[in-house]
Amino acid sequence: MAAPAPPGLFDAHCHLQLPRLLPHAAGAVAAARAAGVVRAAVCGCSRGDWGEVEKLATAFPEFVAPQFGVHPWWAAEHEGPGAAAAAEGWVERLEAFLRRHPSAGVGECGLDKAKKKEIPMDVQVSVLRPQLELARELARPVSLHCVGAHGTLLEELARAFGPGGHGPGLVLHSYCGSADMIVPFARLNCFFSFSASFLRVPKHATALRAAPRERLLLETDSPDQLPPGLCGVCGVDAPPPPEREPASGVRRDSGGEPLNEPAHLPVIAAGAARELGVPPRELVSLTAANTARVFGWQRGDAETAWQRASEDGDTPDGREQDLHLAS
Ligand SMILES: [Zn+2]
Repeated sequence: MAAPAPPGLFDAHCHLQLPRLLPHAAGAVAAARAAGVVRAAVCGCSRGDWGEVEKLATAFPEFVAPQFGVHPWWAAEHEGPGAAAAAEGWVERLEAFLRRHPSAGVGECGLDKAKKKEIPMDVQVSVLRPQLELARELARPVSLHCVGAHGTLLEELARAFGPGGHGPGLVLHSYCGSADMIVPFARLNCFFSFSASFLRVPKHATALRAAPRERLLLETDSPDQLPPGLCGVCGVDAPPPPEREPASGVRRDSGGEPLNEPAHLPVIAAGAARELGVPPRELVSLTAANTARVFGWQRGDAETAWQRASEDGDTPDGREQDLHLAS
């Protein structure tokens, strides 16, 4: 797949640590760099995988921006009647990981109404709250998962951070809320990260166009959400080839299922540039600048940027769509 590969792309959300992708991590990092993807936020999902995220951050310190958190799909293992005994003290353990990695963010955490039968919403909320508290105390950005619960999440964020929001930034990953919700989320200093889903879901493309440009991020959500364009080109529906695929093709897990990986971010960036009608290079510099604000390598930088923006009157009021694109 010959997608434009301008340098400087940042994958705002992926999971190199998940068992499907972890055995391919070294190859995936090399392929990403070759494709112009310079860094990726690698988001933990449960106490069981924070160690893997930490190992990846140690092995690839320039590429991996570690995030530690409990995803709502794993919430019931941590709190509530079905919680594992070994999960006791998970908040303290999470805090220890975050303190060991001063540039790490909190996440992936959030709310998922589609899973409310297996994981009751009150359990999900009870796992989300202490993570938001840690983010506030330690001044870290937060990577948020939200499906069908945007109103509740908005309330939880306002409860945790107050009406002015969270200075270090809140990332709504693979944003799937309505365009109407963008302004209230932006007021709380939310960033809107788009995965390949906008390439096939018109509602997500509408939200992409409505998001303030200064809050726009791009992500692969690897190993999930393989860009649809790659399916046709690389024959995802065909049986797995007997040999390793070329770096530009689609890698597969041990069961033969196709894997998304950070190297596919240029396909998403090209699609977003088309959707927004901006040259791909402009989109790359824009998202790079946004990324530096929320995932600054040093927290001090992100806070300074936030302060400067606030002083300039560029507060998160959701009316920034009209502002210039970075060039
Ligand atoms: Zn995720």
